[in-house]
Amino acid sequence: MEEINKKDIRLLNKEALQDFFASHGAPSFKGGQVYQWLWQKGVHNFDLMTNLSLEHRNILKTYFEIKHINIDTQQRSSDGTIKNAVKLHDQLVVESVLIPTASRTTACVSSQVGCSLDCVFCATAALKRMRNLNADEIYDQVVAIDHQSKLYHNRPLSNIVFMGMGEPLMNYKNVIAAIDKITHPEGLAMSPRRITLSTSGIPKMIKKMADDNVKFRLAVSLHSARQEVREKIMPFAQKFDLKDLIDSLVYWNEYSKKKITFEYIVWEGINDQKEDIQALVALCNRIPSKVNIIQYNTIDGSLMKQAQQSVIDDYITALTRARVKVTYRRSRGLDIDAACGQLANKLDIKGTVT
Ligand code: SAH
Repeated sequence: MEEINKKDIRLLNKEALQDFFASHGAPSFKGGQVYQWLWQKGVHNFDLMTNLSLEHRNILKTYFEIKHINIDTQQRSSDGTIKNAVKLHDQLVVESVLIPTASRTTACVSSQVGCSLDCVFCATAALKRMRNLNADEIYDQVVAIDHQSKLYHNRPLSNIVFMGMGEPLMNYKNVIAAIDKITHPEGLAMSPRRITLSTSGIPKMIKKMADDNVKFRLAVSLHSARQEVREKIMPFAQKFDLKDLIDSLVYWNEYSKKKITFEYIVWEGINDQKEDIQALVALCNRIPSKVNIIQYNTIDGSLMKQAQQSVIDDYITALTRARVKVTYRRSRGLDIDAACGQLANKLDIKGTVT
């Protein structure tokens, strides 16, 4: 028999799967069953699709393959955090993290291999962008972490944050398609309110999210409310002026009516002055928001240092006085380099784990 060039079955939607069965003289509802195996149960092997006859499984095997991610290595922190090195079908590697707390389990997922942006404090920036993840590769990370949550913590995943490698708004189409599947009743049926997209701040795309009527939450890696400071630590901000970012956030707030979370690290000699604090308070007064002060996690080869605790306390006092909610949490998973911005530590430039 002539060799058939096998197609990735996961590129077919439910209707296409139904049509496939019908065109092979089989009942079309079989396509719906396959869809369920692929997307609700996360099965990666045709032989595990037990409500299909051997004959139907063989037809599938003749025409298709299931291109899926593989968890290459799994590191477990003493605090329960799990960091997964995820190998893609082309051998590139991204990372995703399971973060358990008393009340929730959060998946931190990647959206790109490497990153298009150049934040000077982030280990992923050193990798440059190699490619975007497709929607299935994003979805698969969530399914894998959901399995781990059930296995190690006896509960399903409760939250998802797009805070792994990459800039989700630079891979918008695939991120949205993945979220559609995560929230769809025939996918994982998770509430979009439990999903947070974290962006370094791309004004045009933030407006687009509002126009597209998305339902998830928004976090912005602000790190400074002053254009000149932001440009130093996030050089791409030269192209995306803070004024435009603020405009887009006002637009988003009018649409979503939900508070935006500003992620903020305080560094010595960078944003540790009174005027930095005042600028942040002024911005929070303008935009319904809360502030999440993130502990700075040192990355290989960087000279940046987190500011003294007294400066962080000054930020907290000023924000609290202005009735802005502020949280400051210690990082999780530090012993395995699983914390924010550290994911690419110990990865060599080709994206393979060393
Ligand atoms: N590109 C997106 C999502 C990935 S980064 C974004 O910028 O939001 C996820 C979060 O980790 C961001 O808030 C980012 O600013 C933060 N981060 C990056 N490097 C860090 C580091 N070394 N220590 C602590 N947080 C860091």
